[in-house]
Amino acid sequence: ARAQAMEIQESPDVEYADIGGIDEQIREVREAVEDPLENPEIFDAVGVDPPSGVLLHGPPGTGKTMLAKAVANESDATFIKMAGSELVRKFIGEGSRLVRDLFELAAEREPAVIFIDEIDAVAAKRTDSKTSGDAEVQRTMMQLLSEMDGFDERGEIRIMAATNRFDMLDEAILRPGRFDRLIEVPKPGVEGRERILEIHTEDMNVDDDVDLSAVAADLEDKSGADIASLATEAGMFAIRDDRTAVRRGDFEDALEKLEDADEVADRNVH
Ligand code: ATP
Repeated sequence: ARAQAMEIQESPDVEYADIGGIDEQIREVREAVEDPLENPEIFDAVGVDPPSGVLLHGPPGTGKTMLAKAVANESDATFIKMAGSELVRKFIGEGSRLVRDLFELAAEREPAVIFIDEIDAVAAKRTDSKTSGDAEVQRTMMQLLSEMDGFDERGEIRIMAATNRFDMLDEAILRPGRFDRLIEVPKPGVEGRERILEIHTEDMNVDDDVDLSAVAADLEDKSGADIASLATEAGMFAIRDDRTAVRRGDFEDALEKLEDADEVADRNVH
């Protein structure tokens, strides 16, 4: 059961080139994660410790998980992912046990990148949410902090986490020696959207009449994940119409469908 809570990949199939619109964030992650893994002697020579933990924060579907996978892949490190929600357990001591297992596993598989997604599930402010009042969740968080405190920054394990709810986080996890490198991963601007569209249509048979920069201009406020599903959906419209080439109209239909789906989702939330 324990192993099931974690996702382990020797070499995740994501590269930096697959990630569009967040070049600056890629650069920062490389500096904080890849450089210490690949050239620890530089940090020794200069006499500084690399950042302990890297926290990626921003809206859903902007590429945070991709970024963590890509840096593990490109540093030839094992990628070990744990969802924060998996650490929230019913039985006493079970969450902290999982945290210990996570760090033990990383030590066995080093070089390794630990990635804790939805870290807010175990690290919400004490005052603020119902779950954080839960003593068991508190204990799990304390275990995580103690693993990080007892950690050799110049070793072969790097720790990353992600959240969509940065404002909810307990400041204790942001202290020096813990998640002390914050990287915001925002929704893409128009140029980023075009780049992401290029990436997701690279293997698609797209008609010459399609101007991706015009499509990108219509995708205000959309995330990378939205753009990935838009491209797939546009392809589906072509297939339904018995065509092998994807046309401009297919992207327009796909966008309409995406916006209808968003509306339904919004209605269900409110
Ligand atoms: P969440 O906060 O919901 O976990 P996330 O930020 O971790 O989201 P990812 O899981 O990295 O998002 O992205 C989901 C999918 O969306 C990716 O598999 C990819 O297809 C697409 N995607 C997201 N962002 C980008 C991007 N910047 N460039 C290319 N594709 C992207």
